[in-house]
Amino acid sequence: MTSLSALSATTRLSAASTSTSTSSSSRRDRVAPLAGRRVRGTSRSPRARARAAAETAAGGEGGGGGSTPTPTPTPTPTSFASDRTRDILTRLEASSSSSSASALGAGGRTTLAALEGLDAAWARTRAGQFPPRPSTPYVRVHPGETTTGFDDAAAADDADAFDVVVCGGTLGILVATALQRRGVKVAVVERGPLRGRAQEWNVSRAETAALVDVGALTREDVDACVMIEFNPIRCGFHNSGAKDLVTRDILNTGISPERLVARCRERFEDAGGVVFENSTLGGVEVFDDAARLDVNGAPIRARLVIDCMGFGSPIVRQIRGDMKPDGVCVVVGSCAEGFENNDGADLIYTCTDIEEDYRGQYFWEAFPASTGPTDRTTYMFTYMDADEKRPSISSMLDDYWDLMPKYQGLNSIEDVNVKRVLFGTFPTYRDSPLRTDFDRVMQIGDASGIQSPLSFGGLAAILRHITRIVGAVEEALDADALDRDALRAVNDYQPALSASWLFQRCMMVPYDSKPRRRDFINELMTINFGVMESLGDDVLRPFLQDVVTFKGLGRTLVSMTLTKPLFVPNILAQAGAGPILDWFKHFVALGVYDALASPAKALMTPAGEFQALPKRARFMIRRKLEAIVYGAGRDQVE
Ligand SMILES: Cc1cc2nc3c(=O)[nH]c(=O)nc-3n(C[C@H](O)[C@H](O)[C@H](O)COP(=O)(O)OP(=O)(O)OC[C@H]3O[C@@H](n4cnc5c(N)ncnc54)[C@H](O)[C@@H]3O)c2cc1C
Repeated sequence: MTSLSALSATTRLSAASTSTSTSSSSRRDRVAPLAGRRVRGTSRSPRARARAAAETAAGGEGGGGGSTPTPTPTPTPTSFASDRTRDILTRLEASSSSSSASALGAGGRTTLAALEGLDAAWARTRAGQFPPRPSTPYVRVHPGETTTGFDDAAAADDADAFDVVVCGGTLGILVATALQRRGVKVAVVERGPLRGRAQEWNVSRAETAALVDVGALTREDVDACVMIEFNPIRCGFHNSGAKDLVTRDILNTGISPERLVARCRERFEDAGGVVFENSTLGGVEVFDDAARLDVNGAPIRARLVIDCMGFGSPIVRQIRGDMKPDGVCVVVGSCAEGFENNDGADLIYTCTDIEEDYRGQYFWEAFPASTGPTDRTTYMFTYMDADEKRPSISSMLDDYWDLMPKYQGLNSIEDVNVKRVLFGTFPTYRDSPLRTDFDRVMQIGDASGIQSPLSFGGLAAILRHITRIVGAVEEALDADALDRDALRAVNDYQPALSASWLFQRCMMVPYDSKPRRRDFINELMTINFGVMESLGDDVLRPFLQDVVTFKGLGRTLVSMTLTKPLFVPNILAQAGAGPILDWFKHFVALGVYDALASPAKALMTPAGEFQALPKRARFMIRRKLEAIVYGAGRDQVE
C-alpha cells in the first residue's frame, strides 16, 4: 500500500478545549407551564395566538406566512427557549450522569446551552449574518511548492506523516477504520472526544452489512451495536381517509453511536491507526507533494485530507461562501419513557395540517428505543427555507411539547418521563454533492451533502456510499489521482439526489405565497403514497429508503396524473415554474443515467477494469461508472 515518506512533525498534539456555551439574558417565546394541561383535542388557534403574542413582544422573529411579510432585519436575540423548555432541560441536566452528553457530532449535545447556541446560529443564518472570514483562508494552496521547502520539513518524522487524515471523527471513524484495515496509513483528527452520541441512530438492518463488506467491523461487532429491532413501520397522513401504509424492515434498527464509534476506534487503533483527540484542525496548506495540516498548532502531513466535519465544516464554508442554504429541515424531539403502545415505528406521519400561521407542515417519526420497553423516540420535523421570518428551533420545541401527546395518543406530556431532548438543523444545497475546490481535500458525511434533502439520515447515507468511497480513496492513492479534478469525480453529479429537491420544495410552505388550503400537503402525501403503494414494492421501498429511481418516479407521476388530474395543477402551482423546470432537467438526466446503469454496472466488474489504460484513466472511468449507477439510484440495499 501507498505511504508517505519523510514528512515531519515537531510538536506532539495537546488537548484543546471546546465550548458551546451561550449566554442567555432575555426570553423570546414564553409559553404557559404545561403541568395539568390536557392536550388531546386542543384547538390550534391558541397556540398560534400565543406564538404571535410572544413574537410581537420579542420583536418579530419567527412565524411567517402572514399576508404581508415584512423582512425587517432584527438583532439576533441571545435567548430563545421558553420557560417550559428551560425547565425540562435544566431538570435533565441536573439529573444526568451521562458522560456522552459531550459527544460533538450532530445531535450529540442536548443541553440548554447547546439549544441556545444552535438557535443563535440558525437566527444568524436566517439574517444572513455570517461570521467574519479568517484573515488567512482555512485552506491555502501553494502551487509549484513542495513540503520539503517548508520550515518544519527538516525535522521530518514519519510518525506524523499519513496517507490519509480524516478530520471529524463521528462518521469519519467508519471510513478511517475501513481504510486503515486495508493497509492505508490513516489518522483521525477530532475536535472533541472521539465518541458517538447516546441517542440511537435508526437505519435499516440490511444497510449495516456495508460496514462488514468494507472491513470496518465484523458481523459480531455490528450485532453488538444493534440495540433494538422492531416492526411494523407505518406511514400515514392527517384526515387522509385512507388506511395507514404499513411496511417492514425500513429504519427498523436502533444502532448505538457510542458503541459504533468505540468499536471502530478499537479496530482502527489495533490496525495501527492514530487518533488525535480533543484536537482541532486549524487549517490546511496544500502543496504539490502533500497537504500540511495544522492540528492544535502542530503540523501533520497527509497525501489526502478527508473532511468529515459536518455541516459546520470550515472547509465547506470556504467552498460554498457566505450563502444561505437552499432548504433546511429543522427537527426537534425527545426520547421519553412511558409509552404503553410502543410496538412499531412511524417513518413519516402527520397529525395536523399546515400550521395556522403557515410556519410549516409538521411531520413526525417515532421509534422504540432500547433503553426500556416503554421508551420511545419521537421527532417532529419540517422543511423550510432560511428566510428571516422562519421560526426558531425553540419555538418549534414548544409546538412539539403541545403536539407530541396528540400524535402519540397521550393526554399530556406529563404522561411520559422525558429522558433526552433532541434537536438539529439540516441545511441542504441544491448544488450537492459538494465537489471540492482543492487538490488533496475531499468531503464525506454531512459535509459532502450526499444525503437526501428529505431525510436526516446521515449514517444511512454513508452506509449506502461507504463501499464506493473507500474504494475510490484507495484507488486515488494508488493512482496518485489526488488533484481537484480527480477528487471532484468521487462526489460527481447524481440526478437521483438532485431530483429529490422537488419533493422538499413541495413539502415546504413558502411563507410569502401560502397554499390555498392548509390540508394541501397532507392531500399531496396521501395521493403520492397511495399511488406508490398501488404500484408495489419496486416503487415504494426505494423511495422510503431515500432512493429515487427513474422508473419509480416516472410511474408515480404518470399514475398520479391519470388518477388525480385535477390535483396536478396544484402541485405545479405549489412548486413554482422555476423549480419544476430545474427538476425536469434532472429527471431527464435520471432517465439517461437509468438507461446507462446496467451497462455501467457490467463494466464495473473486474473483467471490465480497462487494465491496459494508465491508472489515472482507470480511476476516472470507474468514478464515472459509479456516478451513473449511484446517480440512477441503482444501488439501493434490500
Ligand atoms: C436529532 C437528530 C437525529 C438524527 N437521527 C438520525 C438517525 O436516526 N439516523 C441517521 O442515519 N442519522 C441521524 N441523524 C443524522 C446524523 O446524526 C448525522 O448525519 C451524522 O452525525 C453526521 O456525521 P458527520 O460525521 O458527517 O458530521 P457530525 O456529526 O456533524 O460530526 C462532525 C465532527 O467533526 C468534528 N469537527 C468539527 N470541526 C472540527 C475541527 N475544526 N477539527 C476537528 N474536528 C472537528 C466535530 O467535533 C464532530 O465530531 C440525526 C441527527 C440529529 C441532529
